[in-house]
Amino acid sequence: MGGGIETVVVDGMAIANQLRDGMKTEIEALVAGGYRAPHLVVVLVGDDPASKSYIKGKQRACTRIGADSSEHILPESTSEKELLELLDRLNADDSVDGILVQLPLPKHISPETIAEAVDPAKDADGIHPLNFGRLLLGNARLISCTPLGVMAVLERHGIEIAGKHAVVIGRSNIVGKPVSILLQQQNATVTMCHSRTQDLAGVCRSADILVAAAGKPRMVKGDWIRPGAAVMDVGVSEVDGKLIGDVDFDAAQGIAAIITPSRRGIGPMTITMLLRNTLNAYLSRKGIEPTR
Ligand code: NAD
Repeated sequence: MGGGIETVVVDGMAIANQLRDGMKTEIEALVAGGYRAPHLVVVLVGDDPASKSYIKGKQRACTRIGADSSEHILPESTSEKELLELLDRLNADDSVDGILVQLPLPKHISPETIAEAVDPAKDADGIHPLNFGRLLLGNARLISCTPLGVMAVLERHGIEIAGKHAVVIGRSNIVGKPVSILLQQQNATVTMCHSRTQDLAGVCRSADILVAAAGKPRMVKGDWIRPGAAVMDVGVSEVDGKLIGDVDFDAAQGIAAIITPSRRGIGPMTITMLLRNTLNAYLSRKGIEPTR
């Protein structure tokens, strides 16, 4: 326990539900106006139980906001060529607005090739190189979902970003890099850390905003956190059947101003941003200005 500060534990599920209610209202208005509902297609290759449960959660979330969802579950033996042919069909299908290929893919299929094969206008995961390039250039359309979730939590909690020092642990293409770019675009001074960073604890101690996305359970100790910092714990690792974040959650109490827990934290926000991307893809394909 640190001293003095009452740490706010972020309720990511509550924020997600508010945002989902807003999207449900938007979709109801579109359907009442004669438009069809947005449609997300999820593609899974193989029968990994965790992946199956993730895609079910994504489909349930679609149903909850009044969006359509459908799935293609392909056998593990599916070739890259067969998957590319399916993506070609989905890209050409006007009734499909968002396409998500669940990762990980079997070893014989290149995730880079698959990411590039999805129509950038239907790239619900925001991982196509064109969308990544647009993010870098500051005119993003579809952005990776977890970074969007982190930014939405900071916004909802009124965390000042401009002029602050943001430290991001992790430099992956789906979390560390895009969240660093988004923070920098909101005028934070960003330090991007990784497995070769020297004195990681010292760098973290200077963070007003600390985003932990390394996938190393409880790596960030209480004394790595600057008193009053906003701590966004993206990491999720399973340890003895429990989901553990990258930050020592108990040790952060009384030191961090706010912290996201490993359950009901960034996870539900990530799915919510997948819905937002699908809705935005639908709106821009129909020539309607997205609300955000
Ligand atoms: P990744 O393995 O692709 O990248 C991890 C990054 O952390 C790498 O850049 C690496 O350099 C860095 N790193 C690893 N060990 C480190 C160390 N000891 N010190 C400093 N940096 C270190 O992982 P990812 O896909 O970016 O995911 C990161 C974590 O976030 C994982 O735990 C993942 O499960 C979780 N995640 C959660 C959500 C969610 O919705 N909650 C979404 C995506 C990822």
